[in-house]
Amino acid sequence: MDHVETIVIGAGVIGLAIARYLARRGHEVLVLETEAAIGQHTSSRNSQVIHAGIYYPKGSDQQRLCLRGKAMLYDYCASRHVGHSRCEKLTVAPDASRVDELHDLVARGAANGVDDLYVISADEARKREPALACAGAMVSPSSGIVDAPGLMLSLLGEAQEAGAMLALNAPFLAARQVAKGFAVDVGGEEMTLTCRHLVNAAALGAWDVARGIEGLARGSIPTRNLAKGSYFSVPGASPFEALIYPMPQVGSLGVHSVQDLGGGVKFGPNMQWVDQVEYSVDPSLIPGFEAEIRAYWPGLPDGALQPESSGIRPRIWGPGDAKQEFVFQGPDVHGVDGLVQLFGFESPGLTACLAIGEHVGKMLGAKEGTRWS
Ligand SMILES: Cc1cc2nc3c(=O)[nH]c(=O)nc-3n(C[C@H](O)[C@H](O)[C@H](O)COP(=O)(O)OP(=O)(O)OC[C@H]3O[C@@H](n4cnc5c(N)ncnc54)[C@H](O)[C@@H]3O)c2cc1C
Repeated sequence: MDHVETIVIGAGVIGLAIARYLARRGHEVLVLETEAAIGQHTSSRNSQVIHAGIYYPKGSDQQRLCLRGKAMLYDYCASRHVGHSRCEKLTVAPDASRVDELHDLVARGAANGVDDLYVISADEARKREPALACAGAMVSPSSGIVDAPGLMLSLLGEAQEAGAMLALNAPFLAARQVAKGFAVDVGGEEMTLTCRHLVNAAALGAWDVARGIEGLARGSIPTRNLAKGSYFSVPGASPFEALIYPMPQVGSLGVHSVQDLGGGVKFGPNMQWVDQVEYSVDPSLIPGFEAEIRAYWPGLPDGALQPESSGIRPRIWGPGDAKQEFVFQGPDVHGVDGLVQLFGFESPGLTACLAIGEHVGKMLGAKEGTRWS
């Protein structure tokens, strides 16, 4: 039976960042991916926004990893020529009664270590963005956008350069605990491999993977909830230079305007609890989207919105629950030596991917200062 030191399940942006981190510190890594290509799920079905880190609970992993990940990501993209733009974000108050809340958001951001936020008047906002309607806006200078597919290709290239291997069409099926590690059944070519460390970074598939690990206490597996977000686009160039966000809502940052690096624009995502992973975009959502978008862009032409894409947030909290942050589960949680599981990695998972790779690498004992760090 072939042996590899570490198997990472899932070639999304997080699995690839973990593989890169480990490989560059001398670990032998194999990434298993069930699809025929990398990044076909959450990592290529999102807003591609580099988040500033304003809203996450102070002291939480989400907040800490978002701030560190944002800095790492800007450095990474600049040094590797991955497409990105520090285009700024405006969070807009729809009427005068909400302007005070913008100042509250500035204070909340500052408490979270985002100390460059400031509020501008409606006139100043219109000077910057002539198409925008608002009563005032909060500017986030460190928000931006990144080319997520380009980022994943770069992470994969660097992981492979450092010796990591990628197996496509290779779904994780099951694992058994054996002396000093795991025996892992892999579909596709139908093989069994052994490994010392197993990392479950399968995102929407993480629950099925966990249930396939023999001997793992079922009580340690959180409940799976799926929150779908759809996007609509308009033809032509973006009406805005910056990202435009409405005031934040519970469980979602609201239908925002997000431009791509080619100058086009899409609007979304909304939030719908769903039971299965299914990515069609329902045109009957258009009237609701039009109403939300026209609150800040009255010039949206009738009939312009076209279904664009959707993504699904893997969540460990569901309807009626308090919002919960994503979790890393090591042996202290589930008692299985050598196993790290990631659950609920919704936003800011893209922004934080490099910091998450570093965090998981350290959980597995990868050392700084080795070969490629
Ligand atoms: C609508 C939406 C908008 C978002 N916007 C942003 C944003 O603007 N900024 C931001 O920072 N974050 C954003 N996020 C969050 C971000 O996209 C995710 O946190 C991140 O992409 C998660 O990466 P991942 O690698 O965990 O997941 P994925 O990309 O889903 O990767 C998991 C991989 O595991 C594979 N897999 C599953 N099961 C198996 C198996 N059994 N065997 C082998 N492989 C398997 C899958 O095929 C997949 O390739 C958004 C998310 C959504 C849904």
